[in-house]
Amino acid sequence: MSERNKAAMLCGWGRVGVPGTEIASENLVKLSEHAVLSRGLGRSYGDASLPPSSGGKVIQTKLADRMLAFDEKEGWLRAEAGLCLAEVLRVFMPRGWFPAVTPGTKFVTLGGMVASDVHGKNHHVDGCIGNHVRSLKMRVADGRVLTCSREDYPDLFWATMGGMGLTGHILEVEMRLKAIPSPWIFGQSERMVDIDAYLDGLQHSAAEWPFTMGWIDCLSGGSRLGRGILMRGRWAQKDEAPKTFPTSKKKLSVPFEAPSFLMGRTVVTTFNELYFRKHIPKKKQGIVHPDSFFYPLDAIHHWNRLYGPRGFTQYQCVLPRSVGAAAARRVLEILAKYKAASFLCVIKDCGEQGQGLLSFPMPGISIALDIPIRDNTQELVDALNEQLIRDGGRIYLTKDGFTREKHFAQMESRLAHFNEIRQKWDPQKQFKSALSQRVLGDE
Ligand SMILES: Cc1cc2nc3c(=O)[nH]c(=O)nc-3n(C[C@H](O)[C@H](O)[C@H](O)COP(=O)(O)OP(=O)(O)OC[C@H]3O[C@@H](n4cnc5c(N)ncnc54)[C@H](O)[C@@H]3O)c2cc1C
Repeated sequence: MSERNKAAMLCGWGRVGVPGTEIASENLVKLSEHAVLSRGLGRSYGDASLPPSSGGKVIQTKLADRMLAFDEKEGWLRAEAGLCLAEVLRVFMPRGWFPAVTPGTKFVTLGGMVASDVHGKNHHVDGCIGNHVRSLKMRVADGRVLTCSREDYPDLFWATMGGMGLTGHILEVEMRLKAIPSPWIFGQSERMVDIDAYLDGLQHSAAEWPFTMGWIDCLSGGSRLGRGILMRGRWAQKDEAPKTFPTSKKKLSVPFEAPSFLMGRTVVTTFNELYFRKHIPKKKQGIVHPDSFFYPLDAIHHWNRLYGPRGFTQYQCVLPRSVGAAAARRVLEILAKYKAASFLCVIKDCGEQGQGLLSFPMPGISIALDIPIRDNTQELVDALNEQLIRDGGRIYLTKDGFTREKHFAQMESRLAHFNEIRQKWDPQKQFKSALSQRVLGDE
């Protein structure tokens, strides 16, 4: 067994770091004997994958990436938790399989996907990854290595789905891939003039399209508030897809940290205007490369450096359907009031709530905003959260870096149940993170 120990600043994707020791090895069973947390590729934005201030070793799982079994009839893949989704795509797409659910980046591990119970552009149809996971091999706090599923230790299974690594170390994941007719996407995108048109279009598209989402210009105000581009897609059938397999696209890279002014309001406004205008004619459709459709941001390596030395956070919330477009307007208005330019604002339709105890989506719309960190970011997130609580929504923990414990308790009605199960499996709170100290009040 090779093992690496590294004392360093550990960061999430938003680039805000804490000092910590990371251990890595291909033997997760051994490695997980004495560690406070596991982390994958650090694509969670805030502090979900960072150690608590009380210290302790954190497992970096990426060396444990073996595929262990594949059932060619039903598409069940069993693999070690450190396996990167990009590797699953490399091996299985040419064979006609694709993960049942994928987030918007392929640089995530299977363990990280499960701990966040990730959702994708097909959430309104297929739910979160938890719907497509059959079993998990885990190291739990009393030292046992066990396999949990819907039948065996179901409380542990569902608390782990979206449980942010706080129920134990995931060692192996058994999850489902779906057969696809071709590796290409048939996509359609359309310009929407304001937030009402956008949300209306999103909801109507959900009935016909398995993949929907889009971008809105959150800096336009007045009658253009929430104008944007709505995108939808489905797998292209064999007879309409190109005969060739989609080749990997050449990647751009951000070679060094950008100066702080780059994500200022003027630059972001100009970008949004150009992006919106570029989309002429109003409606476009055709065959799209799967990488451009599912993983547009992966085309630029280290794009998180664009936010400069202070880094950034993402505010992703879900608003229940009953509060509709008015609540989305309120989010945009708070953002405008705090002059918090957001380069990226993605609005997505969410389907039924999953069984994961802290799983993020609920029926309604999710809004995701990248926010450069400034002196007033805590104030801004507080204001957004206070409004979110009034509207009955909740935030996505894997993107969060600023939500306060009292706000999380107010927005998360399932928290008491999660705490009960966590207490049962880990009474001494051996598993902890910077996030669990901030949001769940761990010592
Ligand atoms: C560009 C971009 C787009 C994204 N799009 C989406 C999206 O569309 N939908 C969505 O749902 N998410 C999305 N995300 C978030 C991302 O999918 C999650 O944060 C995912 O969990 C990251 O995986 P990771 O392997 O990097 O995990 P990390 O960031 O390293 O860890 C995330 C959490 O998982 C826990 N964890 C990791 N491995 C294990 C393990 N083996 N055992 C126990 N706990 C573990 C960590 O403790 C931490 O709490 C996006 C992120 C980026 C950067």
